[in-house]
Amino acid sequence: MKLPPLPDYPTVQIDGSVQRFPVHRIYCVGWNYAEHVREMGFTPEREPPIFFMKPLDAIVPSGGKVPYPAQTGNLHYEIELVVAIGRGGVTIDKRKALDHVWGYGVGIDMTRRDLQAHAKQRGQPWEISKAFDHAAPLSDLRPVEQVGHPSEGRIWLSVNGELRQNGDLRQQIWTVPEIIQHLSGYFMLAPGDLIYTGTPAGVGPVVTGDVLEGGVDGVATIGIEIV
Ligand code: MN
Repeated sequence: MKLPPLPDYPTVQIDGSVQRFPVHRIYCVGWNYAEHVREMGFTPEREPPIFFMKPLDAIVPSGGKVPYPAQTGNLHYEIELVVAIGRGGVTIDKRKALDHVWGYGVGIDMTRRDLQAHAKQRGQPWEISKAFDHAAPLSDLRPVEQVGHPSEGRIWLSVNGELRQNGDLRQQIWTVPEIIQHLSGYFMLAPGDLIYTGTPAGVGPVVTGDVLEGGVDGVATIGIEIV
């Protein structure tokens, strides 16, 4: 058998630029907005943040299509601010953390909610509920020079024009600098890493044909279709 060809290195569009952002890893934060923790049936506590990962080739650019995945009857959206890391490091202090950020975007953490609930009950890992194909839609990215370091502002998602999620970045339990501090205590952050920073309340199911639009005011917007 022939060797597989070298894979294409995933890159993300940069708003208004011909250059693209090369992706190294995709990290995600779970349970970072209190109202979302409550709607999941738990009490929000300031315990260390939960991290999980998605594969690089799960990225779907804005305007793209997400095939309804197999093995679920409850596919959920989660709109999230995404941090793009430009400078790596380990055990980064939160006071220096923003120096490591290249820019920001908006992503949707697609979730097989039924499989996730099953895994939680049994203490099993989350891969099949979070790290499936096309599970990481992502907007164009914008550099810090354009958007600054957003710590407040509306984060929203609509399905077929109907508003479903409507939160504010100020509701995050863990701020971006705190997330970077914690995450870099477990992993060596590298240029090209992306961090999905958790979702506000209002998550829910989608079906084939649904059109999802979302955004973070002052950062970016994203639109995808479930097919
Ligand atoms: Mn999420």
